[in-house]
Amino acid sequence: MPHGVILVTGPSGSGKTTSLYSMVNHLKCEKKKIVGIEETVMTELQGVTQMKLRPDLGFGYVQALETAPLMACDALYVAELPDPETVNAALQAGSTGCLVLSSCPADGAAEAITQFLQMNCRPHQIASIIGVINQRWVRKVCENCAEEVTRDQLAPAELEILGEMELVRILRGNGCEYCNNTGFRHRIASYELLEVNDAIREAIHARASTAEIREVA
Ligand SMILES: [Zn+2]
Repeated sequence: MPHGVILVTGPSGSGKTTSLYSMVNHLKCEKKKIVGIEETVMTELQGVTQMKLRPDLGFGYVQALETAPLMACDALYVAELPDPETVNAALQAGSTGCLVLSSCPADGAAEAITQFLQMNCRPHQIASIIGVINQRWVRKVCENCAEEVTRDQLAPAELEILGEMELVRILRGNGCEYCNNTGFRHRIASYELLEVNDAIREAIHARASTAEIREVA
């Protein structure tokens, strides 16, 4: 995809920046010219032109987003979208010729889109979003002390979470020295990917609700 916006959403600490950096690294392998925009440069990204913002001097996200496309870049990495003006500037950049990678703190992929609709961003600009990734870090059951359990060994609260879900097997960590007796060790990323196709674009134009967008997806 030569242009459009790809968003990574999720609560803070869910690894949004890590995912964005991996996308940047992937694009770098394709010899793309990439410009990064962030308030504090966390990691130096080799092969990426990193713009440092100086909001105190009137050079904030919006100004950087207006300047970056003039640098003839293929992709723009924008650390965050802190306000509606930045969202609009990012959508604008994505609809006029470069790939924009960014993040926002929505609870789900469809929520990110309705959030923008609520910010009064114009639907035709929101339609420049080509994909939304929603991610979570989830704990893994400790492999050292995991034990298979059956449904009737679960507490009512656990059963409620499972609902009607068909599971091959259910593991529970009993706690051991490896996991500090927590039953959990290491974490794994869990992803939801919303690909914005024509049907979803239509829903955006109709200012659909989160539930309606999910239904279409
Ligand atoms: Zn353990």
